[in-house]
Amino acid sequence: MLEIVTRLGEKALHDQSLTTTEALAVLTAKGSQLTAYMAGAQQIKEHYFGPHIDLCSIINAKSGRCAENCSFCAQSAHHQTNAPVYALKSSAEIIAGAHKAAAEGNHCYGIVTSGTSVDQEVEFSQILAAIETISRETSIEPSASLGLLTADKAAKLAAAGCVTYLIILKPPAHFSHTFVQHTVMKKTSLRSNWPKMRG
Ligand code: SF4
Repeated sequence: MLEIVTRLGEKALHDQSLTTTEALAVLTAKGSQLTAYMAGAQQIKEHYFGPHIDLCSIINAKSGRCAENCSFCAQSAHHQTNAPVYALKSSAEIIAGAHKAAAEGNHCYGIVTSGTSVDQEVEFSQILAAIETISRETSIEPSASLGLLTADKAAKLAAAGCVTYLIILKPPAHFSHTFVQHTVMKKTSLRSNWPKMRG
């Protein structure tokens, strides 16, 4: 294995941070170098977590026609794509997806919706009820990605059994052109409120 991969692996195993130069070397690796880094990453993963892996399944619970213009996303209404467009799936469909994911051996089930945020009353209530049912009826860990969220809604999701919440808080510098600015600001403000949401 490359000397740098061995050296960086040792740092990771001793809980030491990489320098900016070392991190950039990982990010820009290509070809056989990249393969060496992947092998190094696998060694680190096995050191901390053993051979065990967690599987996560998602349901695209609401698709397309998003008003935002994230340039990488097929669900933005600003781009011409063939992404499916449909309103929020029914609770029964969302819950059935969780049962299927659990039966297939998944550990986590992500409910993902397109849009800046879900409708704060009707859609949010429906998703909340689905998460409560999934928590009660299955062993799978519910997760959600519903766009912008208030502290109150975050607390309700957690109380219903939602274990993780996924959101893009702030884009890396090289993606800064891909988001509408107001969304970045809102999402950043959400980040600063997160400690309060966790209670
Ligand atoms: S906010 Fe989400 S759904 Fe909308 S364009 Fe961006 S990534 Fe896609």
